[in-house]
Amino acid sequence: MARVVYVNGSYRRHGEAHVHVEDRGFQFADAVYEVIEVSSRQLVDATRHLDRLRRSLGELSICEPMSRPAMLHVIGEVVRRNRVTDGLVYMQVSRGATRRDFPYTDKALTPTFVCLARPVSPAIRKAKAQRGLRIVSLPDIRWGRCDIKTVMLLPAVLAKEQALAAGADEAWLVDTDGFVTEGASSNAWIVNADGQLQTRALSPALLAGVTRHTTLDVAAAIGLEVVLQPFTIADAYVSREAFATSASGAVMPIVELDGNAIGSGRPGPVAQALGKSFHKYAQHQDCP
Ligand code: PMP
Repeated sequence: MARVVYVNGSYRRHGEAHVHVEDRGFQFADAVYEVIEVSSRQLVDATRHLDRLRRSLGELSICEPMSRPAMLHVIGEVVRRNRVTDGLVYMQVSRGATRRDFPYTDKALTPTFVCLARPVSPAIRKAKAQRGLRIVSLPDIRWGRCDIKTVMLLPAVLAKEQALAAGADEAWLVDTDGFVTEGASSNAWIVNADGQLQTRALSPALLAGVTRHTTLDVAAAIGLEVVLQPFTIADAYVSREAFATSASGAVMPIVELDGNAIGSGRPGPVAQALGKSFHKYAQHQDCP
């Protein structure tokens, strides 16, 4: 079956869809994106993802490409046309295309909007959660506005490559004070030595993960104590458990950090309980 993508007003075959060579997303990474999970043909936490997309656009003064109902309609169409039952929707909005020049305020630009969807096997995801992730720690070399979900992802690309080369799945990024900011593409958590869930408070240093938010809802609902405080790699070594959250993996237990086993070296009970309950507390909505 041919894959279909939405780009600037039309649905095109994946291989034939294109954007302008002078798109500012291409030339300046002047663009933001979102990834939404599709589970049993339903969108997971779409409201929070679209709220964050709106915020990212607002922080960069990029126009919203269309109304929210229109965007949900496009998402629904892309999911349907690609027959995705379980998988991911990717959306990207750039400031638009124009003759290459750094400033943008003097131009009336039409944002570029692209939407893709692809299936992800729930069995593979489950197997990954049962095995647990291996993590390496790396310096956080990103910019000062990691709260905006931009496509300026080169530091994350390099971190992932380094992680993979070391036989790991993900990198935890460490700030200049020695605290973990987040993963290259996930938020970072531990169950600390006191048994509390610990994750860094929101700030411009990290992305306000939608899965992080819903995981905090789950923790409150099942009565887990949470502390919003940064932790070091040394704290993580002595933690009972560690895990990562993201729309593409929900709650993923971590079993190894820089070659050292975390806790028992197997997926921990708290991470597993949060993972099991996650979809019960996340918002599910039909594709319109
Ligand atoms: N931090 C970073 C840097 C990410 O790229 C992601 C995933 N896009 C996350 C955190 C997790 O965010 P979410 O739960 O909204 O997918």
